[in-house]
Amino acid sequence: MASHLLSKSSFIKGLQCEKHLYLYKYHYDEMDKLSEMQKAIFKRGSNVGVLAQRLCPGGMVAAQGDPPNYDAALKRTKELINGDAQVIYEAAFMFNEVLSIADIVVIEKGGMKVYEVKSSTSISETYLNDAALQYYVISGLGIRVKDFSIVYINNQYVRKGDLNLQELFITESVLDLILPLQKSVKQNVDRFKKLLVRKKMPDIDIGEHCHNPYTCGFYDYCRKHIPEDSIFDFSGMHLSKKYELYNDGIINLKDVPEDYPLNKNNEIQLHVFRSGKPLIDNKAIKSFLSDLNYPLYFMDFETFQPAVPLFDNSKPYQQIPFQYSVFIKKDKNSDAQHFEFLAESGIDPRKKFIESLLRVTKGKGDVLVYNKTFEITRLNEIARNFPEYADEIERLISRIKDLMIPFQKKYYYAPEMKGSFSIKAVLPALVPELSYDELEINEGGLASIAYESLQTQTDLMIIAEIKKQLLEYCKMDTLGMVRILERLEELVF
Ligand code: SF4
Repeated sequence: MASHLLSKSSFIKGLQCEKHLYLYKYHYDEMDKLSEMQKAIFKRGSNVGVLAQRLCPGGMVAAQGDPPNYDAALKRTKELINGDAQVIYEAAFMFNEVLSIADIVVIEKGGMKVYEVKSSTSISETYLNDAALQYYVISGLGIRVKDFSIVYINNQYVRKGDLNLQELFITESVLDLILPLQKSVKQNVDRFKKLLVRKKMPDIDIGEHCHNPYTCGFYDYCRKHIPEDSIFDFSGMHLSKKYELYNDGIINLKDVPEDYPLNKNNEIQLHVFRSGKPLIDNKAIKSFLSDLNYPLYFMDFETFQPAVPLFDNSKPYQQIPFQYSVFIKKDKNSDAQHFEFLAESGIDPRKKFIESLLRVTKGKGDVLVYNKTFEITRLNEIARNFPEYADEIERLISRIKDLMIPFQKKYYYAPEMKGSFSIKAVLPALVPELSYDELEINEGGLASIAYESLQTQTDLMIIAEIKKQLLEYCKMDTLGMVRILERLEELVF
């Protein structure tokens, strides 16, 4: 059987950048390593795909394996169609050397209905291009596509009892939108095929297209010439402005002209980079610290976001808090006392989480968090879902202050922070002895994946290890806050 030159994913890559398509096809090994977060997103996509198959029950799977054996999948699809199958999952088609695997096809008299499942909560332009290519392939084989729909997640669905798939998923016909795209699909297929046959790397430099619609998988590969301290470190600067500088040949931070117009934040960033010394606004830091009321509670939450709601009164992708860490400092000179909570897996963690948190934070004194919007939003969500705690939650929220302020507003800014004011950037600058490097779980996204994995994990040793790692990570975030505050106090008092 003839092998394919293009697939759905390589076609989408070609639309982003011809060099992306070329590298993906001929230099796959050079692709940036997938982060654990990206792997989890792919896994989520396939889990949602399998769940959506239940919308059209009774089908047979044509493409098996990861990656599938394409020849076998094409053969099996043909057999199923000829054998009177009514529903096929992962149905494989090839036309004009373009391979396409459709999530669900329903075969009816006189044609077929195709369903493409996405784990997102809306239809993007990329999804339309993906659907348009599939239509091109299937209809190119002489099969009448009666309708083509994208199935995606309804973010307004609130789970009550058993999952209601009809409410969880939205099925939207995009046939009218992809028919007008057929001419450009054909032109692009021809263009990409020529490029791949020529086997010559397109001469394309980095630009805004590397970020749209996704960050390209060869991002690091194409940026090997970017020095460590570059204009791409400017925080909050619009991408178009960064590439304007880049295209003018200004790449290294040290090469930015003195009179180049920058906003206040970027000016400070550049000034500190040049001087190599931190900027410390004593007056502003003092004023921030003087406004704090002891006892201080240093608080941090971890959450996970299941695409398919696992618990009653929760929506798709709702952030469900499952863990907190709190350090309490009675006064400036006392040692911080640690409290923590990590929910059991398999049950809704929110009630036990909030009951424990309210118990530990009861009383007077400010509650310090790092980026208060996150914790306040989570608390408000719990108050909405569990109104019996609403009053106490409101009182807790009224005590929250944000330790991020001195860094966000650049009262303190050090060259090591490279324009960022996240706690992970501040810690090495102010408290280098505390590091996330030794931790297995060293960022919030990984904590979220790890907890989600506990929902289906049965090996007790693995469960114990993951719990230990989660507790270490969340504790580190709050301990970092305690030390950051102590360091600020040392700096200005
Ligand atoms: S990083 Fe940018 S230039 Fe390089 S292949 Fe990707 S999109 Fe193209």
